[in-house]
Amino acid sequence: MKKASVLVITLSALMVFLAGVYPPTETGIQSSRKIDPLKHYWSDLDGFFNRQAEATLDLVEKVLLRFPPALPEPLERRMVLLMVDGVLHDVAAPRRSAVQEFFHSRMEYALEEMATTRVKEGAVIWKLYNHGFVVRTSSVTIGFDLVRGYSSREDGFPISDHLAEQIVRHCDVLFISHRHRDHADEFVAQSFIDSGKPVVAPLEVWAGTPIHEQITHLKLEMHKKQPLPVQNGGRLLEVVLYPGHQGEDIPNNVPLIFSPEGLSFAQTGDQSNTDDFAWIDDVGKHHEVDLLLPNCWTTDISRMIRGFDPKLVITGHENELGHSVDHREPFWLTYDRLQESDAPFLLMTWGEAFHYRPNAPRVSE
Ligand SMILES: [Zn+2]
Ligand SMILES: [Zn+2]
Repeated sequence: MKKASVLVITLSALMVFLAGVYPPTETGIQSSRKIDPLKHYWSDLDGFFNRQAEATLDLVEKVLLRFPPALPEPLERRMVLLMVDGVLHDVAAPRRSAVQEFFHSRMEYALEEMATTRVKEGAVIWKLYNHGFVVRTSSVTIGFDLVRGYSSREDGFPISDHLAEQIVRHCDVLFISHRHRDHADEFVAQSFIDSGKPVVAPLEVWAGTPIHEQITHLKLEMHKKQPLPVQNGGRLLEVVLYPGHQGEDIPNNVPLIFSPEGLSFAQTGDQSNTDDFAWIDDVGKHHEVDLLLPNCWTTDISRMIRGFDPKLVITGHENELGHSVDHREPFWLTYDRLQESDAPFLLMTWGEAFHYRPNAPRVSE
């Protein structure tokens, strides 16, 4: 009860602060929901936490639009991401209707942007659920660990099959890091395959099932580029596929992908193995890395960043609701871990996007 009270007071204080900065009458930040002003929640803890999640996320959504991902990061963004942590670190978060609505609306927002965004320079990066990213350059769109959200173990939480299929339509290729269902979703993979788009995954993913022979299994070769045709052979990616691991022995692909424009992107899946620093420490000596998309809870994120030496880090795997609260990985913990980061970094929540321009001045934050 004591912890809950502290959370309530903290969130209330943040909301009062934001309301003061952006008076509702001038900004339209007031909720469009019909709210009963006479309602109270005495003896209705569940109703209380539902309404608190709703009030918080309504405000979060509006403030995120006002302060999109940027370098240097505005303080308001950090505050809003910590408000998201507060809501999502409730044990019951995945079943709260406000959380489900927030997730779905953020994903629909991303889809709308994907449908209309043409990239002239650099890359646009969308962050989706958990460690899912879509990265688009002027010629290709690459998906990483795209899932609907069934790892949350709550039926109302995942996005619809239709929404997932629409996202697939806007991608050319899918890279799956490893077998766990917060990273690998067979429905999504099959949608790529049915559209004639390659799905690259480790050998053990869906082994022994019909989809397995349709998966592309590239060689695990350190620092060596391999060709991967996409768009029915219309474009060629070059891929270095590093042999990563989650823990001792779960194979975890870590691809470093070079776009036709020469931009390079790496996503690490659930990389968490000390022996693998044998190659992680050297990636930046062999290749220039534009963007690193690491799991926020990897073994030693500062050492990983030093190894890849990327121009920008955007972390993933925060707030995976299928994990127990202590392993949901809040944004505040990512900020703690990135104190020693040698590269600029950005934190983003579901459905947000950032336009990476390699020639923009490098900002240390
Ligand atoms: Zn995993
Ligand atoms: Zn994971």
